[in-house]
Amino acid sequence: MLYYITLTQVCGLRCKYCQNTPDPGIQPIRLNYDLSILRRFISMDDDPIICFYGGDPLMEPELIKGIMEMFPEAKFVIQTNGLRINGLDRDLIRRFSTILVSIDGRREVTDYYRGVGVYDRVLEGVRYIRRCGFEGDLVARMAVSGHTDIYMDVRHLIELGLFDHVHWQLDVLWDYPPAQRYNDFKAWLYGNYFPGINKLLDWWLDELADGNVLGIAPFKGILYRILTGYRLGLLPCGSGIDAFGITTDGRILACPIAPEYKFNVVGHISSSKPGNLYGSIWVDGPCLDCSYLDLCGGRCLFANKTMLWGVDGFSLVCESVKFLIDRLIDVADYVKYCLEVHGIGMEGIKYPPFLNSIEVIP
Ligand code: SF4
Ligand code: SF4
Repeated sequence: MLYYITLTQVCGLRCKYCQNTPDPGIQPIRLNYDLSILRRFISMDDDPIICFYGGDPLMEPELIKGIMEMFPEAKFVIQTNGLRINGLDRDLIRRFSTILVSIDGRREVTDYYRGVGVYDRVLEGVRYIRRCGFEGDLVARMAVSGHTDIYMDVRHLIELGLFDHVHWQLDVLWDYPPAQRYNDFKAWLYGNYFPGINKLLDWWLDELADGNVLGIAPFKGILYRILTGYRLGLLPCGSGIDAFGITTDGRILACPIAPEYKFNVVGHISSSKPGNLYGSIWVDGPCLDCSYLDLCGGRCLFANKTMLWGVDGFSLVCESVKFLIDRLIDVADYVKYCLEVHGIGMEGIKYPPFLNSIEVIP
């Protein structure tokens, strides 16, 4: 199973869609349980995947080192804002299977959302990761909002040649009032996002025709589900199924982003067993009657349970999922043909290769 271990609430940035405001009333600012309890809990899992999470987990490099040494057989993932990556030793960096660095696209877009100068500092960190000889999966993790041009920003990140994959999450359904960072969310969706997805897919297919599989995570992940049936019907991120968050005080969450919601707390590392957590919580409501459930999986447990934008807002976001899935179904046979022509097996589009915290559905 995948465990997101929150090491701290502190991040050091105040991005427009998050405004990082550490609140000890929600969970302690820093990890405050005895690591021997974590050791006992995770040792009951034969095949653990550990994702360091925050805040920015790189605020706590000694904890990262200690936990990595504690579980020599585990797979490791980190989600970071990328600003302190050079505070980690080369050996530790090479020990990760996946490193996800937050960056939103072109310099002006990243700096608009995350703060002036952030783009350059993040790329400095990314180049350090490469210099360390990291051979795992280096992922640019974008938040996509009203200032994003999905075609230009994803293409820019791919063409930097530094990342193995680019993944994005829409800035939707996690705030209230709804759609605060869009002038008109519906107009943006239909007038900007959908045409951008079409252009991006055309580019991806042109490259595929030449035998190049560009690392655009949602395209690969959804096409792999379409063509192989992999994890059909399951929430792609695994939240509440085989992925869980651990708060700084040891509570176990279905989805790591929301310790303040009661529905989301499913245990505690001092008393729960990993084997009993599988499938603790599933999506419900509109997803259960949706013809896209097999491929979409319900998109996001948090959004499904909280409905922060109401049913209409939720349905509008579903339009983005249905559009993307429909476009990928349209081209699936051609993708299969190109893969065969170039002798690339299905593994060539398998994404993620293991549960590495990528949500697949934006
Ligand atoms: S498209 Fe919307 S309603 Fe359908 S399964 Fe996905 S999130 Fe649920
Ligand atoms: S997609 Fe939703 S449920 Fe899954 S980890 Fe992200 S916020 Fe949580």
